[in-house]
Amino acid sequence: MLEFPAIFMPAWPDPTTWQLLRRAYLGNLLLEGSRYLGAAALVWLLLHVLLRRRLAHRVIAGWPTGGDMRREFGYSLSTLTVFAALGMVVVAGLMSGHVVIYREPSRFGWAWLLASLPLMILWHDVYFYVTHRALHTPWLLRHVHGVHHRSRNPSPWAAYAFHPVEALVNGLVTPLALLVVPLHWSVLMLFALHQIVRNTHGHASLEIMPRGFARHWLGGRFTTTTHHHLHHETARGNYGLWFTWWDRWCGTERADYLARFDQATPPRPAVARKVWFDAGHRHAPGSGARTITRLDGIE
Ligand SMILES: [Zn+2]
Ligand SMILES: [Zn+2]
Repeated sequence: MLEFPAIFMPAWPDPTTWQLLRRAYLGNLLLEGSRYLGAAALVWLLLHVLLRRRLAHRVIAGWPTGGDMRREFGYSLSTLTVFAALGMVVVAGLMSGHVVIYREPSRFGWAWLLASLPLMILWHDVYFYVTHRALHTPWLLRHVHGVHHRSRNPSPWAAYAFHPVEALVNGLVTPLALLVVPLHWSVLMLFALHQIVRNTHGHASLEIMPRGFARHWLGGRFTTTTHHHLHHETARGNYGLWFTWWDRWCGTERADYLARFDQATPPRPAVARKVWFDAGHRHAPGSGARTITRLDGIE
């Protein structure tokens, strides 16, 4: 019988391994899915539904349409399947010993445990800036990244609205880190939580940070919703993810950023409030006092 050299006969995982990988895929799909759905639904419900009128003066350019949200949701579901596949690859790496995710906090020292979360966030920030700039080269923008840019006024549901290739690029941030360093499971959870909360908030199309935040010596180092919104509006400049420094160092921050942030954070407009007064003193309704409408300007 003809025998093939070993190189042509890959050692396929046994059925138990396949079963584990399938469970890892489904588990990751469930975890990523619930994180995305939970965060996007929470931010959307809070900012776009419950506080819609109260925050109307904070809308940066306009509200997203129903069509925008449906498209963003559809692409996000596709992204979840890619992220789950990458999660499965990480589990395969764990099984083969190429990846270390540990439980015992002191295993690699407390210093590493405490430093690893900020380092992961810094790594994500630089990884995103570099890959995002690459995604803005003409061919990739037209065929891949354009999907994300279809949202001119994004909603929190746009957090994962990517072409599958971009989903793969974005999703590699954690597996690549794990190829180099061990990470505690709680660091991975907090990293993912930080990512989804800031990502959904960054696509809210309204600015909830306080006035002056973008001009503050510390606040100005963090990206805001306005920062990323201008990127969606023009597809030019403001490529950064969590911090503004890469755009500032590379000269890609939009010149109109601070002015647009100021525009999106005006003092709260005058609201009509019924007050009852008589000779300058307030009274309870029905006490015979005259009713007027007073305009209150509230910050
Ligand atoms: Zn975006
Ligand atoms: Zn972009």
